[in-house]
Amino acid sequence: MLQKGVKQMVCLCKTKLPEGARFCPECGRQVPARREPVEETEERVVKQLDPLLKPAEAARVLKISRWMLDELRTRGVLPRECYMEIPGSGKRKIIRYHTKELLTWKGQVDLSTAG
Ligand SMILES: [Zn+2]
Repeated sequence: MLQKGVKQMVCLCKTKLPEGARFCPECGRQVPARREPVEETEERVVKQLDPLLKPAEAARVLKISRWMLDELRTRGVLPRECYMEIPGSGKRKIIRYHTKELLTWKGQVDLSTAG
């Protein structure tokens, strides 16, 4: 199936441009920068959010459930630098997630199948 929204970019000289190309391989014209909307949203999110996130907020940022976030962390899928454990009272540990690291990690993995 063809994905919607993925359009073949064509230069003014009618050369089809490879995806992500900055310059036309034929005439060298600069391709107008096309920002990915997801990136823009995330940049805005990072600016709005605290550098440290509570689990519920982190799950929202990653667009996964809190349960899934817990799973990823306890299974070691989530890199250690993405979160910190603060000793709480008793057995409880307080988990805080690092916003920047979390988003960097998110950009490297495909969470679309993770729920
Ligand atoms: Zn061109």
